[in-house]
Amino acid sequence: MFIMIGAGSGHRKKAYLGVRVCPQCGKLSHFYLVEQARQVSVFFVPVVRWGKHWGIACSRCKAGFEIAESEKDFCLKQAQWMPSEKQMNEVIEYLGAQLQSGEEPEIETLRERVRLRFDFHVDDRSFEEIVKGLRQAADRQRQFQQFY
Ligand SMILES: [Zn+2]
Repeated sequence: MFIMIGAGSGHRKKAYLGVRVCPQCGKLSHFYLVEQARQVSVFFVPVVRWGKHWGIACSRCKAGFEIAESEKDFCLKQAQWMPSEKQMNEVIEYLGAQLQSGEEPEIETLRERVRLRFDFHVDDRSFEEIVKGLRQAADRQRQFQQFY
């Protein structure tokens, strides 16, 4: 009988952590808490796992940043209150449209509009990173238009 055995490292997404500007790719990205472990798999199914590590990972460039056990617990606690990636995308789309409307609203005005429009809570850090990321993208676009 032919059995395929592989050894390597595997990682699993454990919780959604919201939106950040990634230190690696510099883009606005969704971040996940990931568990990474050395593993042996049989027919691509992991059967033995050891040496667990925890990290947070960028869903865009896949860069991972290792974190301590205590930070992992904090992330899990935070994740309980986090909307889903899909809900966060709706907020990003909405804020993008608001920022492109030309009226340049204050961050507090935007926060209030998001609160009224969506019936889930966006954490403050995600909210600020989204607005910052979208404003930077808009500035780059403006510079580009001025240049040509
Ligand atoms: Zn990244």
